[in-house]
Amino acid sequence: MAAPAESHVGARFIETFGLCLDELCQVFMAPEGQPFIVAGSGTLAMEMSLVNLLEPGDKVLVAISGVFGERFVEIARRWGCQVDTVRAPVGQAPDAAAVEKALKSGGHKVLCVTHVDTSTGVAVDVKAMAEIAGRAGALCVVDGVCAAAGVECRQAEWGIDVYLTASQKAISTPTGLALLVVSPKAMAASQSRKTPVPSYYSDWGMWLPIMSAYRARKAAYFGTPAVNLVAALSESLKQILTEGLPARFQRHLKIGAAFKAGVAALGLRDVAQAAVSAPTLTSVYYPDGVGPSLVGKIAAEGVIVAGGLHPEIRDRYFRVGHMGTVSSGDIVATLAAIEKGLALLGHKFEAGAGVAAAQRILTAA
Ligand code: PMP
Repeated sequence: MAAPAESHVGARFIETFGLCLDELCQVFMAPEGQPFIVAGSGTLAMEMSLVNLLEPGDKVLVAISGVFGERFVEIARRWGCQVDTVRAPVGQAPDAAAVEKALKSGGHKVLCVTHVDTSTGVAVDVKAMAEIAGRAGALCVVDGVCAAAGVECRQAEWGIDVYLTASQKAISTPTGLALLVVSPKAMAASQSRKTPVPSYYSDWGMWLPIMSAYRARKAAYFGTPAVNLVAALSESLKQILTEGLPARFQRHLKIGAAFKAGVAALGLRDVAQAAVSAPTLTSVYYPDGVGPSLVGKIAAEGVIVAGGLHPEIRDRYFRVGHMGTVSSGDIVATLAAIEKGLALLGHKFEAGAGVAAAQRILTAA
């Protein structure tokens, strides 16, 4: 990121960008997919997916497991689509049978799913959701912002039509890039639409020649790429592929399980039901007598955790991300900081119990 800015049509950047596009397909396990890397945030990747696949009046079903499912609903409504929803209670994943039943009512062009909703820490079985969408003849768009490169997702094998993320979460690059890979079926659907894509910047048709050119190691221009961010992304993708995807997913499962065991040992409850609690993020209810001031106490120990986000429970819980470059040491330090904050606020627990529970998992073979 701190390297001198270079030309977006220079030889070095052409190679960097071309490699990023190739490697994004590897990380998403979609060798035939069409990658897009565009300056913007994860919300742009969500909007790009819907605005290219749907036309005004089209039906879309959103399986909602938290705040970011609601965001799909708002985006689709803005672009004039008819939106149906299957909404899970807080802490649960949307019911697969209910999603299948809703799709059977007919005519949905797209099913939207959030792989891990960052407001609840619920992980959805996106393989099952993509199968359901496929059976109903709908395209499956998955928001992988809080999951991609941290939770297993075999985009092509599982039949996911769009897998999207942002640079800043488990990919571990600073904020600022929208990343998505589109299946050949979804590209064909966008190319056979009857009306033009109503957004200029989001139109895959504008970006496709650019992405194809860089993959062929040639320069092309539509909107100037974020050169330094792409250089940073290139480093992150190299780290991800060097670690290896199976090892990386396993590491996230292990540090996630260790963190969850740690907070449970302190008498704290996970917002997400155990069977669907994500490897990348944990939402934790404050114990009785403790409230949002805990976040500041933890920060005073040098660890940043996030407050609540889901409107139904906003002031009753906090959130801890454990993805990307997060290490075992970070898990231990975070639990130690949580223990200190809880002690200062008068919560009764055995000092060290959280750290010890996590260590039992982290030190196991
Ligand atoms: N989806 C999920 C699951 C997210 O966690 C976020 C960001 N927290 C977004 C979408 C939106 O991404 P961004 O903030 O980069 O626009």
